[in-house]
Amino acid sequence: MPHAFNSQEIEDLLAKNNGQYLVFENDQPKFVVLDPVRYPHFVNFDKNRPNVLVTGGAGYIGSHVVLELLAANLNPIIIDNLSNCAVPNLGCPFIVGDLEKTEVLDKVFEQYNIQAVVHLAGSIIVEESVLLPEKYFHNNVVAGINLLNTMLRHGVNKLIYSSSAAVYGSPRYVPIDENHATEPLNPYGETKLIFEKIVNWYVKAHDLNAVMFRYFNAAGADPHGRAGEKHFIETHLIPRVFQVANKELDSVKIFGHDYPTADGTAIRDYVHVADIAKAHALAIAKLEEDTGSFTYNIGTGKGYSVQEIVDKVVEVTERMVPIEQHERRAGDPPILVADSKKAQKELGLELKHSDLDTIIRTAWNWHKQAFAKPAVPVEEKAEETAST
Ligand code: UDP
Repeated sequence: MPHAFNSQEIEDLLAKNNGQYLVFENDQPKFVVLDPVRYPHFVNFDKNRPNVLVTGGAGYIGSHVVLELLAANLNPIIIDNLSNCAVPNLGCPFIVGDLEKTEVLDKVFEQYNIQAVVHLAGSIIVEESVLLPEKYFHNNVVAGINLLNTMLRHGVNKLIYSSSAAVYGSPRYVPIDENHATEPLNPYGETKLIFEKIVNWYVKAHDLNAVMFRYFNAAGADPHGRAGEKHFIETHLIPRVFQVANKELDSVKIFGHDYPTADGTAIRDYVHVADIAKAHALAIAKLEEDTGSFTYNIGTGKGYSVQEIVDKVVEVTERMVPIEQHERRAGDPPILVADSKKAQKELGLELKHSDLDTIIRTAWNWHKQAFAKPAVPVEEKAEETAST
C-alpha cells in the first residue's frame, strides 16, 4: 500500500527541492522537473509570457493544445495524472498529479502566476462510463470542482473547459446547434453536462469567466508529427482501424449495422485536433476582452459513417482492413453532426485541417511512427532464422 502524503510532507518535499517542481506518480513523489526559469535551455518557458495551466495536457487533445499555446506565445504548464497516456515530449513544465489533490494544485498555483486554465483532464470512455458511473462522476465532476475552487482561491478567473457533443444525446435535428436539448445517453455525457452547469453557476456567483467547448469527434494528428493519439486503452474508431491496417489487430469491430443511416453504421462529425487546439488559443484571447460564459460546438457540419471511415483508411493506407459486424455499443447515438457557426462567427475559428483526407493522412503518419515495431537487432534476427 503506497504511503499517502499529507500536506506537511508535501510542503517539506517541495522545500527540499528548492525552486524545482515536484512530480507525482500514483500518489508518490517521483522526480523533479528542472526549474524552467533557471534552465531555460531545457524547457519551453519564457517568464515574460502569460502562464496557462493545461489539465490533461499530456493527452491526445491536450498535447495539441499545448503546441498551439506555445505557438500563441503563451507558457503552457501541464498537470496530468498519466492515467491513459505517457509523458509527452513537449518540453514545457509538467506536473504529474490528480486534480483532487488540493495541496498539489495549490503549490502549482502558488509557484506559477497562472492567467488562465484549460481544463481537459477527465475520463473519456463512453462504454466504461456506463459500467462505472462512479469513476466518471468522481474524475469529471468532483475533481473539476476542486480545480474551480482552487482557481477562485488564487484569483484565476479564466477557464476554457473541454465538454463534449455527448451532452446532446440522440439528436432531435441535425446539424446540432448549441440550443439543442441536452439529454445525455450515458454517464460520460452526463458528467460533462453537469460540470458545464456547475461552471455556469460559478460564473454567475463569482469572478469567473468561461468558454466551454462541446467537441464532436476529435481526430487527426499534428501535421508536423509532434503529437498524435496514443492512449493506453484505445477505444476510438480511427486509431482502432489503423491498428488493423498496421497489423496490431486482426480485425475491427463495427458497432451497429442497423442504425437509421444510409449504410446502417453510425455517423459522426470528425474534426481535426489541430483545429480544436486552435479554438483554445482563440478562447483565451476572447476572455481577455469579454466576460461571462460562452458555449461553442466544435465540429465541421459534415458527418461520416463508420463504414466510410474504414473505406477512407483503406484508401489512404493501401492496406487491408478486415471488419467484424458487432452489435451496437451501449450509450451510442446514431448520428452526431455539429452546427459550429457560432464558434466560427464569435471566435473566428477556421477549420483549416478538418477535411477527412487531411484527418486520416496526418493521423496515419503519426500512427505509423508512434506504433512502429522496434527494429530487431541483427544478432536476434540471426537467432530467429536459425531456430525456424
Ligand atoms: N466504433 C466502432 N468500432 C470501434 C470503435 C468505434 O464501430 O472499434 C464506432 C462507435 O460505435 C461510434 C463511432 O465509431 O459510432 C465513433 O466512435 P468513437 O469511440 O471513435 O467516438 P465517440 O463518437 O464514441 O466519441
